[in-house]
Amino acid sequence: MFNIILFGPPGSGKGTQSEELITKYHLKHLSTGDLLRSEINSKTPLGLEAKNFMDKGQLVPDEVVIGMISSALDENPDVAGFLFDGFPRTAAQSKALDKLLELKNTAIHVVLALEVGEEELVKRLLNRGLKSGRSDDANEMVIRERIKEYENKTKLVADYYQQFNKVVTVKGEGTIEEILSNLCSEIEKRMS
Ligand code: ADP
Repeated sequence: MFNIILFGPPGSGKGTQSEELITKYHLKHLSTGDLLRSEINSKTPLGLEAKNFMDKGQLVPDEVVIGMISSALDENPDVAGFLFDGFPRTAAQSKALDKLLELKNTAIHVVLALEVGEEELVKRLLNRGLKSGRSDDANEMVIRERIKEYENKTKLVADYYQQFNKVVTVKGEGTIEEILSNLCSEIEKRMS
């Protein structure tokens, strides 16, 4: 298996690039944001709990998202690899993911970190909010809170993987094609 974490702040293009990468490398896309929104749409107890945090721009508790990822790993035993998008978002989630992958005799091969300036992020998210119907994208205060959560809690995830030399930063501004091509060259360096 070849497992990638696509890392970066809200609005850095993880979702867009994920779609391209999963097709190209036949990976299973695991986006905790998408999984949580699907729970909310189905009005499950997990979804109802998560919604309270997401509406405020706060992270959902670790045990909730770790449980979701653990089930998703079990449900996909025969894939070429996983592309994690929006997970892990805390140091505790990173450690839990490493353990879950170890149980499956695999590991994270690379953390691709997209870098985008804060004002560009806010602009992109407000713009996405106009079309996506995502309420957390429609309100600038919620957007700023999500970026703050990223700065305070999620950035540490990069430090965690840095100690194993797994992090590569990629410029997240430019055309979708340019960014994709930079991501692919980093992936292919490590696949061979
Ligand atoms: P974005 O990266 O644009 O914020 P996501 O769809 O990845 O969008 O996440 C939306 C919201 O879902 C986050 O603000 C957070 O509340 C929740 N969420 C998603 N993934 C996680 C996670 N791994 N840990 C905790 N909360 C999460």
